[in-house]
Amino acid sequence: MLQTGQALAEAMTLASDEAIHIMGAGLSGLAAATILAQAGREVHVHDARDDSGARFDGDFQGIENWSSDTDFLDQMRGWGLDPAEFKLTEFHEIDVICPEDKIRKAWSPKVAFRVIERGTAEHSIDQGMKRQALAAGANLHYKSRVKSDDCHIIATGPKGTSAVAYGEIFHTTYPNHVAFHFNDKLAPGAYAYLIVVDGIGLICTCLWRKQKKSDRFLNETIAWYDKHYPDLDRKPFKRVGGKGDFTINNRYFVDGRYYIGESGGLQDFMWGFGMRYAITSGVFAAHDILGKGDYEKAVRKHLLPLVKTSAANRFLMNRVGDRAFSKIVKMWMKDQKKKGDGLPFIAWMFRPDLLRRITWGLFGKAMLKKEITADGRKIWRLPFRRALKRDQWVQGVEADAVAAQWDEIRRFGGNISFTNDSDNASIPTYSDDEE
Ligand SMILES: Cc1cc2nc3c(=O)[nH]c(=O)nc-3n(C[C@H](O)[C@H](O)[C@H](O)COP(=O)(O)OP(=O)(O)OC[C@H]3O[C@@H](n4cnc5c(N)ncnc54)[C@H](O)[C@@H]3O)c2cc1C
Repeated sequence: MLQTGQALAEAMTLASDEAIHIMGAGLSGLAAATILAQAGREVHVHDARDDSGARFDGDFQGIENWSSDTDFLDQMRGWGLDPAEFKLTEFHEIDVICPEDKIRKAWSPKVAFRVIERGTAEHSIDQGMKRQALAAGANLHYKSRVKSDDCHIIATGPKGTSAVAYGEIFHTTYPNHVAFHFNDKLAPGAYAYLIVVDGIGLICTCLWRKQKKSDRFLNETIAWYDKHYPDLDRKPFKRVGGKGDFTINNRYFVDGRYYIGESGGLQDFMWGFGMRYAITSGVFAAHDILGKGDYEKAVRKHLLPLVKTSAANRFLMNRVGDRAFSKIVKMWMKDQKKKGDGLPFIAWMFRPDLLRRITWGLFGKAMLKKEITADGRKIWRLPFRRALKRDQWVQGVEADAVAAQWDEIRRFGGNISFTNDSDNASIPTYSDDEE
């Protein structure tokens, strides 16, 4: 039996024999569930969708290894989570592409980041985390409709939309490869990318400004890669996408509930590398319940400074375009040459310093929109910005051909797992909308 919301709020602290209910069986929720169940607690995880990872559909994401000096896999092992449960592909080198189409190499002797797959495939991170939660003894309930009031941990991922990403997945004979592409036309305010792992490719564009006819950004991005990587030999079969929700919260532990992962706004405002923060916050919440830490303090000490730095970076990025993107790439390459390692530059971008503290202090909250959620929490959300005049263009003939190719594939069964600007579309109608 679930404890009622009011009783939960009154109780504030959890008795050591009380069952713990988690809303959301994504990365943050499963990380928390695993650690709690390993410690012998009764845990129930409720997810609105029919499986972990069903929010995604086989797209690749990168787990960054630059926001901390500790390798993330060592961190996971230290917490009792096993990264061997899912497929990871390490990258030391990537192409960095600046707006003038020059392709350079960023390189590190360390693992810069690892590509994982999201979705419901056996080797995806979502299924790997699910297996660990089950093995630890957690009870997972899918298509489960619970109220947030009745849960101790809220791990429901993004709610609002601050940015979106669209991608196409294809078969390819191209070797494993990652390209990170600064281009304000193809990816307004953000970046586009190519990832190839073991014969499967993903070309994706991220839009930090809301656009009409958003398909043209993906079509044009794919056309760009076809031109500059002629051996890609794309055979598309799927288009995917999703949204990001970037918020700063007044508090992360409210009325007896832990807000973890993206539902607590623990995301990277600059580029959307939220997985590491999501898993870390799940671990912090579990440790608090087990009496091994204080969630609010841990988030404020270890995660919030990174989130605020990313928000300051986002403020700066919103004010620039291709010229500044080019300068960033040049600075990066210069720093890499000097240090013989491209990773410290990215680490510098992600970690707090005086410039970003001042930027956050002066402008941070002004760029965000204050909201009071239905459950009374005060949050500041990064609004999905309006399109700029320079975002209005008509796709070229090569992009027309990419669109026509996709239309043809779709007619013969190619699937789109993302509609326009919200991935809520794949959640069944739900009565517990808290915002
Ligand atoms: C297209 C795209 C690309 C990305 N690329 C990267 C990347 O390369 N690197 C990176 O680090 N991050 C990336 N991210 C961000 C990353 O996916 C998220 O930060 C991370 O998944 C957040 O984890 P979470 O646990 O908060 O939410 P999720 O892992 O999304 O899990 C939330 C879970 O809650 C469930 N849920 C939602 N609503 C309810 C409800 N009402 N009741 C019950 N259950 C509910 C969902 O079904 C889902 O299973 C990307 C995001 C997108 C959209």
